[in-house]
Amino acid sequence: MSIQRIIVVLGPPGSGKGTQGKMLAFKLNCAYLSMGQHLREFSVKGTELAKKVKETIDSGTIIPDDWMKIIFREKILELMDQETIILDGFPRDINQVPILDDFIKEVNIWEFEVVFLNVPEEILIARIKERKNKETRADDNPEIIHTRFKEYEKKTLPVIETYRQRGNLIEIDGHRDINTVHQELMSKLRVKDKQ
Ligand code: AMP
Repeated sequence: MSIQRIIVVLGPPGSGKGTQGKMLAFKLNCAYLSMGQHLREFSVKGTELAKKVKETIDSGTIIPDDWMKIIFREKILELMDQETIILDGFPRDINQVPILDDFIKEVNIWEFEVVFLNVPEEILIARIKERKNKETRADDNPEIIHTRFKEYEKKTLPVIETYRQRGNLIEIDGHRDINTVHQELMSKLRVKDKQ
């Protein structure tokens, strides 16, 4: 068996990508890969690249595409025995779109969808502040949050627009309770069950 289906989850910082991505993976009984989480784990490995990744994450900017090409491929190849992958937070920049396109062609993925969790900025800031009380993420402080939003607007919104134009986008109003968002997401997926 190899990967047949990829569901990408995108949205601004604090939009619930992690929460919804994990719920979806549980429901579909499939693999979940958070690129942010993977990078945080990668960043403590002690290599030169790891140190640079840590500095970049802590600054609130996103990792350069040429590094992401290597990091993405290395990680996704570990998941080749999975049938379905929920991919949280990749691609995050327009130059990462062809990295995923190439992989989709190479592996012959037959089902590809992109979920966009849309939440207004003022709600997001309140959510991230709340998360800061529960988790310790160096990039959850007010100045860095501002940079992360700017990065999202400049780099990730064009990715979302690209998928919208291609007809791959499922847009969800993420400004509602967790279960309502999950239900709507499930109802909008083209394929609801594990094949
Ligand atoms: P997240 O956990 O999704 O909020 O991601 C945390 C941080 O990881 C981001 O602010 C970026 O620095 C980095 N990151 C996550 N995904 C990517 C990606 N696809 N490309 C570049 N950087 C990323």
